[in-house]
Amino acid sequence: MSFPPNISYWEINQYFRNVDLLIVGSGIVGLTTAIFYKKAHPSTNVLIIEKGTLPAGASTKNAGFACFGSASEILSDLNTVSADDVYNLVSARINGLKELRLLVGDRNLAYEECGGFEVFRKEDSELFEKCTSFIPNSNIEIEARTGMKQTYIIADNRIPEFGFSGVEHLLLNQHEGALDTGRMMAHLIKLAASLEITILNGCEVAAFTDLGSAVEVELKNGITLSPKHLNVATNGFATSLLPKLDVKPARAQVLITTPIENLKVKGTFHLNEGYYYFRNVGERLLLGGGRQLDKEEEAKTELEITELIQNNLNELLKTVILPSTHFKIEHRWAGIMGVGDTKKAIVERVSENVSCSVRLGGMGVAIGTSIGKQSAELIG
Ligand SMILES: Cc1cc2nc3c(=O)[nH]c(=O)nc-3n(C[C@H](O)[C@H](O)[C@H](O)COP(=O)(O)OP(=O)(O)OC[C@H]3O[C@@H](n4cnc5c(N)ncnc54)[C@H](O)[C@@H]3O)c2cc1C
Repeated sequence: MSFPPNISYWEINQYFRNVDLLIVGSGIVGLTTAIFYKKAHPSTNVLIIEKGTLPAGASTKNAGFACFGSASEILSDLNTVSADDVYNLVSARINGLKELRLLVGDRNLAYEECGGFEVFRKEDSELFEKCTSFIPNSNIEIEARTGMKQTYIIADNRIPEFGFSGVEHLLLNQHEGALDTGRMMAHLIKLAASLEITILNGCEVAAFTDLGSAVEVELKNGITLSPKHLNVATNGFATSLLPKLDVKPARAQVLITTPIENLKVKGTFHLNEGYYYFRNVGERLLLGGGRQLDKEEEAKTELEITELIQNNLNELLKTVILPSTHFKIEHRWAGIMGVGDTKKAIVERVSENVSCSVRLGGMGVAIGTSIGKQSAELIG
């Protein structure tokens, strides 16, 4: 270990000596890895290093959909992988949400099983026909794996209640929910603190070397640490420490309106094969998506918004979602996801004392807790 002179003896003793497990990244995966590990090994020292003032990836930036797959997402996945793989992933997402709710509690999550709708406009009519043709089979597959009945139903009769323009069909996923992402993460941080897990923000891990007996970890602020095990939970940023992994950053942009009197849109909604998603947050409307408009530009790790995508989101609000409502945008932001050639998360040992748990795609709210559990078990 080595420390620059701005770090005192007391700080070294309190925070950096005898670290058993050092986790890089305080997103949902880093936090739940730490929590499950510490519960299994109460006498160990667990330290989480986070580069942001707050978590600076996806876990505090997302839309808070407790979702496990819209009909068109399942249809698109069926074109690339086997039906078994598709429905096993759906059931992993359902089970992951159960794990999250068990760990954090519905009240702390502000969890609501509000139902998730997939919205089809005139130009999506072919997609709607395809989706409806495989819904009976999808419902059977999901029931066989999870016991949940009649997951997807046609809900065209509900179109008038939302005040949309140009929407011709709705599919309802009866078991989808919504939660408050900020509350979820704040509670996980509290849980970690209650287990005496230390989280240091504003520190970036620059490099590491597995020495066999321990790992040498260099921070950008000049500190070098020697934990027994290093876990990389940096999702979309994974390749800066583990360049061989198949993980690419995928930025996702979001906006939220100011409160809208008598907002009709209640619940969670997916549009255009999941490229857009929107929901109510109380009386506000949150809308995200549009990455498909410039995938190259959006494959970046900078938490920035762009005019192209934000104008597109505005247009969608005006023309489809809130066509006859006066609205104002309160805030716009971006988050970074980690994606790859398949939708499977990577939880693996990369060397004797180093492991990783990354590539959560757009599913980390759903699977993050069970990935954290798997990751803690892998560490041992
Ligand atoms: C806009 C948006 C909407 C989404 N909506 C949903 C949704 O509705 N439902 C759903 O299930 N999923 C959704 N997701 C995906 C979900 O948020 C992610 O899959 C999940 O949060 C990933 O968690 P994580 O812990 O793996 O990664 P992250 O939360 O990204 O955490 C990784 C952390 O590592 C830190 N870090 C990176 N490199 C370093 C380093 N070198 N040193 C120190 N720290 C470092 C980062 O700052 C970051 O805080 C959405 C994502 C976005 C961006």
